[in-house]
Amino acid sequence: MDTQKQKCQKCGSENIVMVEYGYGHPEHYDGVSETMCNDCKARFGRWSNKELKEGEWEPRGGRFKAK
Ligand SMILES: [Zn+2]
Repeated sequence: MDTQKQKCQKCGSENIVMVEYGYGHPEHYDGVSETMCNDCKARFGRWSNKELKEGEWEPRGGRFKAK
């Protein structure tokens, strides 16, 4: 895990939390999968860095479909 202070990409807040998906989750991963901002509630994927919308999940391990 990097020690660099992470900021919300949306509002710049440092009040963010690391989110792990639990067992039973379709994208369960043994570690952090996304970050969530406590201020604006935006969620970002750990690997994709994309904002995750309601009901969206970061694919485990940054697994993306091959083209
Ligand atoms: Zn934010």
